[in-house]
Amino acid sequence: MKLRVVVLGAGFGGLELTSILSESIGDNLDLTLIDQNDTFFFGFSKLDVMFGHKNADTVKIPYNSIVKPGVKFRKEAIVAIDPESKVVTTQNGTYGADVLVVALGANYDMAATPGLVEYGNEYYSFEGAVKLRDVIPNFKKGHAIIGVCGAPFKCPPAPSEGALMLHDYLVSAGVRDACTISLVIPFGSPIPPSPDSSKALIKAFEERGIRFIPQHKIASLRPNTAVLDDGAELPFDLFLGIPKHVAPDVVLQSGLTAEGWISVSRQNLMTRFDDVYAIGDVTSVGTPKAGVFAEGAAKIAAASIIANYKGKENEAAYTGAGSCYIEFGKGEVARVDVDFFSGPKPFGIHHDASEALVVDKEHFGLSRKARWFGL
Ligand SMILES: Cc1cc2nc3c(=O)[nH]c(=O)nc-3n(C[C@H](O)[C@H](O)[C@H](O)COP(=O)(O)OP(=O)(O)OC[C@H]3O[C@@H](n4cnc5c(N)ncnc54)[C@H](O)[C@@H]3O)c2cc1C
Repeated sequence: MKLRVVVLGAGFGGLELTSILSESIGDNLDLTLIDQNDTFFFGFSKLDVMFGHKNADTVKIPYNSIVKPGVKFRKEAIVAIDPESKVVTTQNGTYGADVLVVALGANYDMAATPGLVEYGNEYYSFEGAVKLRDVIPNFKKGHAIIGVCGAPFKCPPAPSEGALMLHDYLVSAGVRDACTISLVIPFGSPIPPSPDSSKALIKAFEERGIRFIPQHKIASLRPNTAVLDDGAELPFDLFLGIPKHVAPDVVLQSGLTAEGWISVSRQNLMTRFDDVYAIGDVTSVGTPKAGVFAEGAAKIAAASIIANYKGKENEAAYTGAGSCYIEFGKGEVARVDVDFFSGPKPFGIHHDASEALVVDKEHFGLSRKARWFGL
C-alpha cells in the first residue's frame, strides 16, 4: 500500500522532508506538497534584493521544476487543518493523509508594532525587501535604525547582517559620514550561543561606527521617532524593522499550538496527534527559527516516518545542530556552527569572516537548489 503523506508548506523544511521521503520510499509514496506560492526563495536572498545585489526575479525558484518519484506539488492556499482526522482543506478542495507534516513557517504581525506600517519598513517579507530597493537609495543623511520588534525572530544574525550591509551600501554611495546606524536587538549579545561570533560582530560594529543597543525591542514608531520597550526614544530617518513573528492563522486555528507555536517531541518532531509532525519555524522545538534548523528537523521527522512505514525503530536523535552564515560586509562571510541539544547548554563555534566562506555559502544555496529542484 502506498503511504499517503501531505506536506503543508514548501519552504526549507517541507522541501527537505519531501526530498528524503521520495528518495527513500519512491513509487510507494503518494506525497502531496502544498504551498500558496509558485516559487521558493532563500531567506538570505532578501538581503541581496534589498541592497540591489540581485534582482527579485533571479532569486525565485519555480516549484513546477520539482519532478520526484511519488511527489505532486499543488499551488493552493491552505485554509483549514484537522489534525485529528488528518484532513487538510485548501481553497480548491480537501486532502486526506496517513501522515501529515506541518511546515508552514512563521508570519509577521505588523499591527503588533504601532506605526511600523505607516512610518517604517521591514525586510523580512519578500515584498518588504523589494520595496526597500527603492527606499534605501533615497537615504543620504540622518539616522538609520535596524530594529527588532519581537522575539523569537528568524535568523538571529540577520539584523546584524542588515546593519553591516547598510554600512557598506552607504560607504559605496559616498554618504556614510552623513549617516548614523543603530542596531536594536532583544538579546544581550548578537548571537547568544556563540560568544566568539558575538565578539567578532561587536568588533565589526565598533570599527564601522554602528551603535549596538542590546536587550531592547522596538515598541512603536512615531514619525521619525522609534520608541523602545523601556520608553526611550531614538530619532530616525530610515527604519528597517524585523516585525513580530506569529504562526500562520490556519495553524493557530487548528488546535495544534500552545503559546503561539506548535509544540513537538524533540525525539521525532511529532505533535501530540499521532502521525502529525511539525517542523521548522512553526514549532517551539527550542532551536532558532532558521532554514538550517528546519532542514535538520525535516531529516529527523523523515527518519521517523520512514521507520514507521518500514516497521522499524527510528534511531536518529535530533541534536538541534546547524551552521549559519553571517554576512560581514566587505564581501566576506563568517560562519557559526551551533548545537542546541547535544550538550548541557547550547554552544557555537565561530569561523572568522573570509572570502572562502563566501564560496561555502554559495555552495550551500546551490546544493539545496540541485537537491530540491533538480536545477
Ligand atoms: C532576512 C533573512 C535572512 C535569513 N537568512 C538565513 C540564513 O542565512 N540561513 C538560514 O538557515 N536561514 C535564514 N533565514 C531564515 C529562513 O528563511 C527560515 O527560517 C526558513 O525558511 C524556515 O523554514 P520553514 O520550512 O520552517 O518555513 P518557510 O521556509 O518559511 O516555508 C513556509 C512555507 O509555507 C507556506 N505557507 C504559509 N502559510 C500557507 C498557507 N496558508 N497555505 C499554503 N502555504 C502556506 C509559505 O508560502 C512558505 O513557502 C533568513 C530569514 C530572513 C528573513
